[in-house]
Amino acid sequence: MSDLKERLKRLIASDGAISVADYMAICLFDPESGYYTTSEPFGVSGDFVTAPEISQMFGELIAVWALSAWHQSGKPVPSMLAEIGPGNGTLMADILRTLNQLDPTFVILSRIGMIEASPRLAEKQRQKLGTGKAKPTWFPDVSKLPKVPLILIGNEIFDALPFRQFVKTDSGWRERMVSLDDKGELCFSVGLGGLDENILPASAKTAEESAIFEVAPSREALMDLVAAHIAKHGGAALFADYGHLQSGVGDTFQAMRAHAYDDLFANPGMADLTSHVDFEALAGVARRHGLDVTLSTQAEFLVGMGLLERAGAMGAPLDQQGRQAIQRDVDRLAGADQMGNLFKVMMIAPKGVSLPPFGTMD
Ligand code: SAH
Repeated sequence: MSDLKERLKRLIASDGAISVADYMAICLFDPESGYYTTSEPFGVSGDFVTAPEISQMFGELIAVWALSAWHQSGKPVPSMLAEIGPGNGTLMADILRTLNQLDPTFVILSRIGMIEASPRLAEKQRQKLGTGKAKPTWFPDVSKLPKVPLILIGNEIFDALPFRQFVKTDSGWRERMVSLDDKGELCFSVGLGGLDENILPASAKTAEESAIFEVAPSREALMDLVAAHIAKHGGAALFADYGHLQSGVGDTFQAMRAHAYDDLFANPGMADLTSHVDFEALAGVARRHGLDVTLSTQAEFLVGMGLLERAGAMGAPLDQQGRQAIQRDVDRLAGADQMGNLFKVMMIAPKGVSLPPFGTMD
């Protein structure tokens, strides 16, 4: 048994049940045994594979998007091109390589920022990117960024932030907690804390008993910081994550370990814990700052940015096997039954800034 599981049990035995959000925060970010602080999460040998780790095409198309966002913002200087939650640093490496080919002046004129909460992953990113021409600067959070126009990218960052769950009971919505069963094992329980029912979408108001509704104040707080920065200083942001475009009831809490679903309580600190991102809630936060919000599926975004053309160009000089490998990557990134529909892309920018591939809309 992991020492973190033991510590969690002792904590709950002495202080009482903890919220799902606290359980997730401890499992992911405990300084000694947290998942992001200690594990090698990404890639074939890790627990899950993210879009930039599937193919360089993902970063290439995002680079085109970032360059266009900078142009549409009036090519501000100084400005910052930053990534939040960069994991292995693969996405930023692909973005910088592509930008150096497309328009080196953007990389020369922009400052490059990396926002990473895990010191271990920041070190890994430094090894990958620290020696290149771009010389990124690392920041622990968005509030420390310089007060200049910001082009921000984030892939699978929101799903890594803690969220809370509420259960519909016969006495209203109650917070779902993590506590101990009679054998002293971790289990879910229903706490006393309630929910401000004004925030519930219509579909949740008629939900059956034991339905689950998820809220994520820490995700909304991050969006609030980013949107406030862009509303005040200019720029644009793009986030890709798996989730839904409309708020609704449903239990989406999941643990991933070695590319398979894991029991939520079996391996604290050794499995990735996530839940679906509620993009409607995040869009509401950005709109309250007066920003335009564009939402689409990952497939719509990538195909709109030219995924198929790029795949064709990359495949042209290759043999059949090479072309099939590229086709497999396209299917994984944009296939309807793979990441294409489940993953969504959210862009935000001040009103009137026209971002590819859909232009201005809201
Ligand atoms: N973007 C990468 C990794 C996604 S995993 C990829 O697509 O492969 C989530 C990443 O976000 C990790 O690097 C994790 O350490 C980081 N992270 C989690 N919470 C964060 C926070 N509050 N601020 C910045 N980074 C955070």
